[in-house]
Amino acid sequence: MSEKSISEKLKEQLFYNKKSGLLSLDEIEFEKINEYCEGYKAFLNKGKTEREAADTAIQMAKAKGFEEFSFGKTYKAGDKVYINNRGKTVAFVVIGKQPVENGVNITAAHIDSPRLDLKPNPLYEDSDLALFKTHYYGGIRKYQWVAIPLALHGVFAKKDGSVIKVSIGEEENEPKFVVNDLLPHLASEQNKRTLAEGIKGEELNVLVGSRPFKDDKGSELVKLNILKLLNEKYGIIEEDFLSAELELVPAFKASDLGFDGSLIGSYGQDDRVCAYPALTAVLEVENPDKTAIAILTDKEEIGSDGNTGLNSDFLRYVVTDLARMQSGDGTVALRNSKCLSADVNAGLDPTFADVMERKNASFLNHGVVVTKYTGSRGKACTSDASAEYVAEVRAMLDNAGIKWQTGELGKIDIGGGGTVAMYIANMGVDVVDLGVPVLSMHAPFETTAKFDVYMCYRAMYTFMK
Ligand code: MN
Ligand code: MN
Repeated sequence: MSEKSISEKLKEQLFYNKKSGLLSLDEIEFEKINEYCEGYKAFLNKGKTEREAADTAIQMAKAKGFEEFSFGKTYKAGDKVYINNRGKTVAFVVIGKQPVENGVNITAAHIDSPRLDLKPNPLYEDSDLALFKTHYYGGIRKYQWVAIPLALHGVFAKKDGSVIKVSIGEEENEPKFVVNDLLPHLASEQNKRTLAEGIKGEELNVLVGSRPFKDDKGSELVKLNILKLLNEKYGIIEEDFLSAELELVPAFKASDLGFDGSLIGSYGQDDRVCAYPALTAVLEVENPDKTAIAILTDKEEIGSDGNTGLNSDFLRYVVTDLARMQSGDGTVALRNSKCLSADVNAGLDPTFADVMERKNASFLNHGVVVTKYTGSRGKACTSDASAEYVAEVRAMLDNAGIKWQTGELGKIDIGGGGTVAMYIANMGVDVVDLGVPVLSMHAPFETTAKFDVYMCYRAMYTFMK
């Protein structure tokens, strides 16, 4: 064995080293990670929309002793409550020993994902086929959404106030839906389009049936038959689509990827890959020093606007209500609060490495990625966490032995993106993004590494406990 040279020793001491966290992982730890990710995959399969993910999370929280927050009631340290915002955004709270005014520790992840929404008046018949018109939600690459099995999820809200849940296409024996694409034989004109225009928004039409209502006379008999079936199953008429939220999502299930089973493939990992760790972490928190809040939010993928997005006053009111319960001030509480904005970053994909700047890109299996700033065009539209706060998070992660890395969303001026971080930072809270690196982000089937998912859970727990 050769002795280390002086320069080697000095490098060890001074250089920032990046390497896979799996190198130092033993079999027992890998098994623990595997087991945790079984729960994660089940969560992905149960909650394919924001409503379903919120429902699933509330069920899990109730099983762990959380009860619905009641305004005016005084909760004591150690109590566990949740605040449900319209079934789409939920805050899970464990009351701390210190007054809320001293600040709370917030983790925030989103449970909405890119998908195809039905238009308000979606159903039509053309050439003896019945189809739905859709309007895509979030930043999708449209060409990825054709010729894959889709499932329909969501609700019809009827005029009488009733809300009817819909989920078709997840079970083995249930029909699926599909957006059809052109055959290569006849695609010479389509092939000249740019990739962005390869499939256009108004071409994302979903095939939903072909069997006509048995009658020789009359038109639109396929559409009529579909409405008859929907009427029998859900009691709805065509007008009820006007007040519905129906979402088409990929029909496949989450699964392990790769011979070694170290990776996970699934729809909706952005950002349920951080939502599940934030949720499971807050469910484990007992008697924290400061009040712990895990918030799972809607609308991130379309800019966080709307009353279930984090650009609303929901979080401000949650903190204010908790402070007021102790006769404290919500503004002071927010100013003293800290947050991990739990969202994904783009992992470096060796096939597309040229969009990344290697020194500052995140890698799969290198642990949770701390993203100091997101944004685009010279850090526009980002909160850019302070050096002091990043140092605090660094120390927390290192002290707990949590593997982490830094990450930037691609090379400068090649694109960019944002998270909920800036909306929370705008309330006076210290915020930095911390999440899991993903490959094929926003695709119908996204890739993550199990090791990073588990490190994210550990980071969330350490931050809130
Ligand atoms: Mn995200
Ligand atoms: Mn996203």
